[in-house]
Amino acid sequence: MSELRIEKIDVFQVDLPYSGGVYVLSGGREYRSFDATIVRITTQNGIEGWGESTPFGSNYIASHALGVRSGIAEIAPALLGKDPRRVDRINDVMDGALLGHEHAKTALDVACWDVFGKSVGLPVCDLLGGRTDVRMPVISSIYMGDPDDMRRRVAEHRAMGYIGHSVKVGGEPAVDAERIAASLADKRPGEYFIVDANGGLTVETALRMLRLLPPGLDFVLEAPCATWRECVSLRRRTDVPIIFDELATNDASIAQLISDDAAEGIGLKISKNGGLTHGRRHRDICVAAGLTVSVQETTGSDIAFAAIAHLGQTVPERYLRCILESRDMVSLKTADGAFDVIEGRVVAPNTPGLGIVPRLDVLGEPVASYS
Ligand SMILES: [Mg+2]
Repeated sequence: MSELRIEKIDVFQVDLPYSGGVYVLSGGREYRSFDATIVRITTQNGIEGWGESTPFGSNYIASHALGVRSGIAEIAPALLGKDPRRVDRINDVMDGALLGHEHAKTALDVACWDVFGKSVGLPVCDLLGGRTDVRMPVISSIYMGDPDDMRRRVAEHRAMGYIGHSVKVGGEPAVDAERIAASLADKRPGEYFIVDANGGLTVETALRMLRLLPPGLDFVLEAPCATWRECVSLRRRTDVPIIFDELATNDASIAQLISDDAAEGIGLKISKNGGLTHGRRHRDICVAAGLTVSVQETTGSDIAFAAIAHLGQTVPERYLRCILESRDMVSLKTADGAFDVIEGRVVAPNTPGLGIVPRLDVLGEPVASYS
């Protein structure tokens, strides 16, 4: 193995405006723009690897953009001189420098995978276990709003080719029931609907919402409640398939999910779960337990989407529900790559690494550098 070591780490900051105006989530949360941190790792022989971590605002999960950059400041000096191809050992070093704060580690972890792929001439998906032949369906993200408006936005995304739709709820039970019924009103065969409360329901409001629905609607209920206890309590009293997202963040919670038989699947968000090294393991745990996986992000631009596409491309078709088209949520392009969505489906590119070329003019000057 010829020598490869991290010589420099540059950090860039970009504001990504939400493409749909104001994104409304349960609990009165609103988002207009997302603060992206993009990392460039440069090795001693000039290979560059890129990674992104973009929290969905500071009140979505326990992560925030300033924390990403502060976390990188804690970790980056410890990574200098390390071999970026030894991804599990890179994560050991990161955990040794800073406990938790997975969102900060993600951009660095993904950049290491990009370097790894470029160093051996292989796309990241092949290093993560090998590409499947699946043309991955992309899923839309339909913010919570007026039921008829949500129906219209689902139709808009359907017209763009989307096969999956993540429909946000989490308000009054009767209005939430209307939101679900309206969003599913024009459902076509083969379409997949996630009804996502982002932890915004109580067990009481969730049960009332479900009882108000017309029978026969085909959807899964994601992140109904904020706590583990509430989700498990709700699960005992409904036959709607449950998906965990915000509560499935690490090895321990996913193992607990299986031992509690708490859900049928997870939303595997790369920065929430700590990068591709952890994401690979969470994929394997889920597949071993027969859980379905949606590979997503807490939003992000082209670099985040590249990581989604490469990990998604390694999930067997039977278990892969969809991947999030995070690029569609932001109105700024940070990189180019061969990730065209065709008829609502996408495949990871064959070029080495993540297969992206960052737009340096968009990224501007680094806000921090470590060497
Ligand atoms: Mg979700």
